Amino acid sequence: MNELATVYNFYIDMRTAYKAYDEFYQRVLEEGTLFVRGKVAEVTDAARNEREKGKLIIQVEDTLAGKQRRIPVDMVILSSGLQPRHDAKEVGKLFGISCSMDGWFTEKHPKLDPVATMTEGIYIVGCAQGPKDIPSSVAQGAAASARVLDKILQKEVALEPIKATVDQEKCSGCKICNGLCPFNAISFIEDDKVSYINPALCQGCGTCVAACPAGAISGTGFSNEQIIAQIDGLMLKNLEMTAVKKRKSET
Ligand code: SF4
Ligand code: SF4
Repeated sequence: MNELATVYNFYIDMRTAYKAYDEFYQRVLEEGTLFVRGKVAEVTDAARNEREKGKLIIQVEDTLAGKQRRIPVDMVILSSGLQPRHDAKEVGKLFGISCSMDGWFTEKHPKLDPVATMTEGIYIVGCAQGPKDIPSSVAQGAAASARVLDKILQKEVALEPIKATVDQEKCSGCKICNGLCPFNAISFIEDDKVSYINPALCQGCGTCVAACPAGAISGTGFSNEQIIAQIDGLMLKNLEMTAVKKRKSET
């Protein structure tokens, strides 16, 4: 038992999800923290006896002991839930990053690239991704700082080789593509009434290519002519192999 204070922890379900969390749980048990399984119904200062006078009283159903308990304490610390920012989606649009269904910003890959986002040079760490403890947040902050430093030291930014471009002769100026780019790479040139794709921002995702009704946008190495040539090549190869098999079966 702790010599200075008696600590109660009221919980419904205990999860020790991350590395070394179970060891931490065992340690606080050994140090004398009292875990009470049950939902706190009320915190009140209405004392019923001498022992409760001047204290805050926790009214709780201890579901393991199967009884109601009143526990007088000096201080109550509430463990509140975390919510994403209400304007996370708008902030995400500004930086070209997406949000999960819950409203937290999403990383590029939870295991392989956990602090990067789909927008080059934008990193998210700690509680921007969801509820996270201090050691994980600090580790992610250090990782993101190292990635930024690496970019600064390189002095040059390597861009994705696949880019979308607008054939301005074909562009009808319908603006359908303008709001679709997750990286805000498309703008509209009012003077010429055509769309323009900033090659430094385009990540080559292909969304605008598929959406353009005029077929005015194509990706580097993925023009209609190139894809049709690839299909023709494959079909020709298939025909040749079929002919060889047929010849062999006849001999
Ligand atoms: S969707 Fe196609 S035609 Fe319409 S503005 Fe964009 S590039 Fe031009
Ligand atoms: S391919 Fe189109 S939608 Fe995708 S990043 Fe490039 S400009 Fe944006």
